[in-house]
This record gives sequence, structure tokens and C-alpha cells, in this order.
Amino acid sequence: MRRPVIAGNWKMFKTRPETGAFFDALIPEILDVEHCDIVVAPPFISLAAAVEETDGTRVAISAQDVYWEPEGAFTGEISVRMLVDVGCTYSIIGHSERRQYFGETDESVARKANAAVKGGLNAIVCIGETLTERDGGQAFEVVRRQIRNGLGQLTGSDLSHIIVAYEPIWAIGTGRTATPEIAAAMHAEIRKTFAEIYNASAADALRILYGGSVKPDNISALMKKEDIDGALVGGASLDPASFAAIIKYL
Ligand code: PEP
Repeated sequence: MRRPVIAGNWKMFKTRPETGAFFDALIPEILDVEHCDIVVAPPFISLAAAVEETDGTRVAISAQDVYWEPEGAFTGEISVRMLVDVGCTYSIIGHSERRQYFGETDESVARKANAAVKGGLNAIVCIGETLTERDGGQAFEVVRRQIRNGLGQLTGSDLSHIIVAYEPIWAIGTGRTATPEIAAAMHAEIRKTFAEIYNASAADALRILYGGSVKPDNISALMKKEDIDGALVGGASLDPASFAAIIKYL
């Protein structure tokens, strides 16, 4: 019932010519793919090139971050209206690297998610616990808090423009993927938390992606789990062949 999503996060990789070369290689590989939505998130400077390269295809383009104010004296920031103008239809919000290195908090995530949805973007909102929190038995509690403080202020209808990405920080860029069982248990907990805040049907419709060292050889096992609706892929999304293989996980 929920349409799967495979999303690639390029982080701080790829210039405009590299962006062109990536899509030249990827698009022919995925022409026949109909079973999932495909999203790619290049750095800001390559968004326009990516939108142009994917025009007329089923690939949607996402920013990796967005600011909540519509415009103003906010040096270095990019607004929702600017992203919509360039042709983006998504933004990632609250990626753990932004939380760890750039002071992103649940409160800033809440403001960004609200601004994104109100301004016409879909938001891929990232949540997930550190290794210390998991080892300390606090993973569920941390993720529940991130949902309540970061997303719990949206209205039920806003939720249809939200995709949640569960990304345990200990699995990002480490090669250490959560087992499908660990990921599935957390996804079920996330869905339960949304059902408590909103209602069962909004929670049922919510797409929840797993992220953390997803590769062509582990995507199928993850996708077999009922509550896992897709993947947010970092490293393996940089190579068109491996990203195409992940998209074709069936
Ligand atoms: C990410 O950047 O969101 C991510 C999950 O990275 P990786 O796939 O490289 O672990």
C-alpha cells in the first residue's frame, strides 16, 4: 500500500560536470523501473544541473538542507522558495551529520519541516540514535523524543508530505548496517509513535526509510520487512551502477 522510495544523499560530493556524468549513466539503467519513487539529493550548487538532467524522467531532486525563513539576512542559507524555484521537490532535513557537526536540533528540524511542507516541498526527515545511546538501551526513547519534538507539531495533512528516514548514527558511513530485524523493530516503534501522536491511518500511510550503509547486497533483505518502505543511501548512491542496483532491489 505504501509506495517504496529509494533516495540518494550525495553529501559534499560531485561538481556539476560530475552530476551530468552520473545521470547520463543512471537514467538508461532505470528507464523501466516503476516499483518505487527515486530521489537524488546533490549539493546546492548542482541542484539546477540535476533538475535539468532529470527533466522528463521519474527521478525527483532533493536538497540536503533548507532554512525556515522565506528570505532575509541569513548569510549562507537557502529558502524553501528558492528550492521550489530551481525545481526541487524534496529536502532532507535533520541529517545526523547536520545534527552532529552543524548544531541542528529537534527544534530547528521542527521549524524546517514545517516551512518545507507549508512552502510546497516534501521533507525527508532523519532521526536515529548514537552507538552510546543504543548500547545504553535508550534507542527507542531517543527516537521517540526526536519525533515528538521534531515532527509532532505538524498537522495530520502535513504528514502526507513527510518521509521519515531512520538512520542509526553508528551505521552511517561505517559499513556496519543495522540488521533487518533491528531496523524493522525501530520502524515499527516509529510507526507506533506516529499513531499515538496522530492516528493509525496517518501512521499507516507514512513512509519510513532505513539509512546506514545500504548497499546492493543488503537492500533486498531490508525491503522484505513490512515496516521498511525504502532506503536513504549515502556512499552507495555516488556510483550510478550501485545506485541503479539498489533501485532495482526486487
Ligand atoms: C546517509 O548519508 O544518509 C547514509 C545513510 O550514508 P551511508 O549510506 O554512506 O551510510
